[in-house]
Amino acid sequence: MNTAALLRPLAPLYLLLSLYAPSAAATWLHEEADIMGTRISVELFHEDAAVARRGVDGVLAEMRRIDRTMSPWIESSELARLNREAAAHPVTVSRELFDLIATSLHYSRLTQGAFDITFASVGFLYDYRKGVHPDEAQRRAATDLVNYHNLILDPRAPSVAYGKPGVRIDLGGIAKGHAVDRCIRLLQALGIGQALVTAGGDSRMIGERWQGRPWNIGVQDPRDASKLVAIIPLENVAVSTSGDYQRYFEENGVRYHHIINPASGDSARGMRSATLIGPDATTTDALSTSVFVLGVEAGLALVNRLPDIDAILVDAHGQLHYSDGLLPAQTQQDVKTPTSAPAP
Ligand code: AMP
Ligand code: MG
Repeated sequence: MNTAALLRPLAPLYLLLSLYAPSAAATWLHEEADIMGTRISVELFHEDAAVARRGVDGVLAEMRRIDRTMSPWIESSELARLNREAAAHPVTVSRELFDLIATSLHYSRLTQGAFDITFASVGFLYDYRKGVHPDEAQRRAATDLVNYHNLILDPRAPSVAYGKPGVRIDLGGIAKGHAVDRCIRLLQALGIGQALVTAGGDSRMIGERWQGRPWNIGVQDPRDASKLVAIIPLENVAVSTSGDYQRYFEENGVRYHHIINPASGDSARGMRSATLIGPDATTTDALSTSVFVLGVEAGLALVNRLPDIDAILVDAHGQLHYSDGLLPAQTQQDVKTPTSAPAP
């Protein structure tokens, strides 16, 4: 993906939005709803208003279905059942849930365990709304259970078993991306070619937004919700942001937030936000959480060796870092030919 040319310097968002505002005659629909514990947004275009309507309704229904299947908080969900029973015996699950757990394990291997859905074995001890975190002894004991090798998958049943009592999983780092991808597929099946679907920090867009112009995705300043640190014009890609400002509380100057380093059981503190750009939202969702945990150096090293993936990171001091694919051509040349750098 050549996103290098797409990254523009900061420009006022209102200007870009007004340039791309559709005419009143077009059949644009834009709806939002709170599902999966987050804000869902769907924006799409189709010449036939009935098809556009079916698209929006289909997206919201699909988001609700995935929430009912994969929420750890809904007792009747497949995932909640796993957490109740899979330590005692293998639990048969839907192919969809099985495949998403298998995909999660792929990212665990790719990131040497930075992405690990068994983080929930310690993650459940935190309550970000109530300002609750485990003490050190509780955290250490629970972190012993965090290890994706504790998940035993049988693709034939398909079933999942947990290797130890106390293991829990949570798909919060990948399920929204999966849901966005399912919704985009649903819209494509309806013949809709221009759409943006967002679930919290995970978005995917198809087609252009209006008259040959791309969608504009803003990267939020992690310390000021009213500011953007970058605006990226994009088409036919997915974008995910993981940040330490989405769900957190502070105690004695320490920020406890929802992205857990599986090695320590504590919040990952190497950066403020990780924005990933890639071909689909399942990938960018899993990788944004992963890169956030890995930190700037290891995170960028991973991104730079993956084809079609780019990243914009805001480090713990507020500095921006870009993957090689987003660096302006001039800068890339400078990096490759250090002899052209000015003499001291
Ligand atoms: P995201 O905003 O996509 O980074 O997702 C954050 C969510 O991912 C959290 O609310 C948790 O549900 C989940 N999560 C936290 N830490 C991890 C981790 N190390 N690996 C996988 N999922 C995680
Ligand atoms: Mg994620």
